[in-house]
Amino acid sequence: MIYFDNAASTKVDGAVLKAMTPFFDKNYANASSIHEMGQLAKEALEKARKVIADSINASPEEIIFTSGGTESNNFAIKSIAFSNKEKNHIITSKVEHDCVLNSCKWLESQGFKVTYLDVDNEGRVNSKDVKKAITTKTCLVTIMHANNEVGTINNISEIGKICKEKSVYFHSDACQSYTKVPINVKEINIDLLTINAHKIHGPKGVGALYIKKGTKIKAWQSGGSHEFRLRAGTENVSGIIGFAKAVQISSQKNINYMIKLRDYAIDKISKNIPDVKLNGATVNDRLCNNVNFSFIGIEGESILLMLSEKGIMVSTGSACSSTSLEASHVLLAMGLKHAVAHGSIRFSFSKYNTIKEIDYLIKVLKPIITKLRAMSPLYSGDKK
Ligand SMILES: *Cc1c(COP(=O)(O)O)cnc(C)c1O
Repeated sequence: MIYFDNAASTKVDGAVLKAMTPFFDKNYANASSIHEMGQLAKEALEKARKVIADSINASPEEIIFTSGGTESNNFAIKSIAFSNKEKNHIITSKVEHDCVLNSCKWLESQGFKVTYLDVDNEGRVNSKDVKKAITTKTCLVTIMHANNEVGTINNISEIGKICKEKSVYFHSDACQSYTKVPINVKEINIDLLTINAHKIHGPKGVGALYIKKGTKIKAWQSGGSHEFRLRAGTENVSGIIGFAKAVQISSQKNINYMIKLRDYAIDKISKNIPDVKLNGATVNDRLCNNVNFSFIGIEGESILLMLSEKGIMVSTGSACSSTSLEASHVLLAMGLKHAVAHGSIRFSFSKYNTIKEIDYLIKVLKPIITKLRAMSPLYSGDKK
């Protein structure tokens, strides 16, 4: 099996698994328990919190552990809205992850107003549009750091500056960029930041929300006094330990390696397959592990299934929308025609992939595309 779907989830690194194991079978105590085992679990938990905090230049008290990116985004958006009810307007973009878009939609059902900003043809939010959309009623701007489908990196430092000038809270979903693009919360004005573990070779079901000191936000979930009274529920100690380990083993070397894979794949696909369109930004504003192509005249789903038969795992758009046959909301917002958006495939790499695997991809992809195009009423070679 060749796994090119690392934007959906990643293999748990052996070192991560090793760090987690003792917290399943040796010290399995509740980190809130007062006895020695509980206190040892608590100590390990707090060490992990420090690792996560240091990685974005935050303080440990500003890190709240959650069950993942989805929960962090829900908590940040809904709770900021309800904790600052003197204002009722939220700004986001049309290309956010479904958990952000649907949190905003839910807020609309609760009487809040939401502005969904357009993006440019590379999937980028224009900071000037953010500035224009802010009113005296705006309480929150939520704009993702890097897009999960096309890998475009937004200029969140510029957006943060605007939000600071206007005294509006700024939240960013950094699930895709975390450990791949440096984030320093002291340098960029950011009030809330979502990150998770399973996109960076950590376990599923664990994430964190950075909440800047002084931010007006109330707990969303009712229960005990865990996580500075902001997120009730017994901490996922093993998962959190694994999360921290995954952060510690991330490296610039891995990033450079993924860049090599990405650029090799972009080059090979462009040169070997006719009538393709690279979606997203040029390499400067592109995630190190993202490649997204439209194959003109065919359906992405057919390509995906045929590649899967050959043992190659890829994705059309985002994993969350892969079961519905609608074209990607991200590609449509970027101005792609329905037919072109439908023919898109995302290849996302990790440190475990190799150049040899990409060579194999090209070898099997070529005949698949030729075969599908021969059957496609939409494709006529000269028509683009
Ligand atoms: C994966 C992802 C999420 C959801 O995170 P989970 O931990 O899977 O709930 C949210 N936003 C982005 C950009 C993602 O890539």
